[in-house]
Amino acid sequence: MRRALVTGGGSGIGLAIAKKLAGTCDVTVLGRDKAKLEATGFDAIVCDVTDGTRVAALLTHPFDIVVNNAGIVRSAPFHKLSDSDWDNMLSTNVMGAVHVTRALLPAMRERGWGRIVNIASTAALKGYSYVSAYVASKHALLGLTRALARELAATGITVNAVCPGYTDTDIVRAAVADIAAKTKRSEEEARAQLSCTNPQGRLIAPAEVAAAVAYLISEDAGGVTGQIIAIDGGETA
Ligand code: NDP
Repeated sequence: MRRALVTGGGSGIGLAIAKKLAGTCDVTVLGRDKAKLEATGFDAIVCDVTDGTRVAALLTHPFDIVVNNAGIVRSAPFHKLSDSDWDNMLSTNVMGAVHVTRALLPAMRERGWGRIVNIASTAALKGYSYVSAYVASKHALLGLTRALARELAATGITVNAVCPGYTDTDIVRAAVADIAAKTKRSEEEARAQLSCTNPQGRLIAPAEVAAAVAYLISEDAGGVTGQIIAIDGGETA
C-alpha cells in the first residue's frame, strides 16, 4: 500500500483528503494541534511546517504521496498587513510546502515514483481584495508546482495543484464571521456574498477537492504533471 502524508490533515479540506485517500493508502496527517490530529484516528505527526529543521528531523520515513494542504489566511486591506503578516503567510503557505517536499523528495527519487499535490486556491489564479499576502503566497505555490513538475518530469514523480474556490470549512466560516462583523451584515448575507463568487452560487464541498486529489495520486494520472485543477464552479473559466 502507498504511504500518503497530508499536511493540515486534522481539519477541513485536509481531513476530507485524508479520509478519501484512506481507501487506497496508509495515511498520516500532520499539523500543529495534537488533539485535533489524534481525533482523526489516523497516524499523526505534530509539527509546524514553517520550522524547516523540525520538518527535516521528523519526516525521516519515506512517503510515496504528499499533499501540501496546510495553509493560513489573514484578511485585511494591504496597508494594514505588517511584515509579520506577510512572513506568516509566506512561511506557511509557500515555505511549508518547500520544507515538506524537500524532506520527502529523496526517498521518492530513490523509488522512482512519487505524487506531490499542492492545495493552492483560486487565489493562485486571480486577485481578490483584502487578502494580498494570501493571494501572493498561493501564486508562489503555483509557480513552485510548475517549476518542480518540469524539474522532476523524468523521475516518475508528478507535481500538480488543486485550486478550490471558497470551500465550506473553518477558514470560510471565520471569513464569514469577519465580513459580518466588519460590514454589519448578517452571517447569512456574508455567506451569500462568498457563494456568489462561484457561478454555481454555492460553496465547494471539501469532498470535491479530495476527489480531484484522489485522481492526481492515482496510477492513471502518471502522465499528468504541472497541471492545475480548479474546483470553483467556473469562477476562473
Ligand atoms: P483549515 O483551517 O480547516 O485547515 C488548515 C490546516 O492547516 C489546519 O488543519 C491547520 O492545522 C494546518 N496548518 C496551518 N498552519 C500550519 C502550520 N504552520 N504547520 C502545520 N499545519 C498547519 O482550512 P481549510 O481546510 O479551508 O484549508 C486547507 C487548505 O486549503 C489551505 O491551504 C487553504 O489555503 C486552502 N484553500 C481553502 C479554501 C477555502 O475556501 N476553505 C479555498 C481555497 C484554498 P493545525 O491548526 O493543527 O496546525
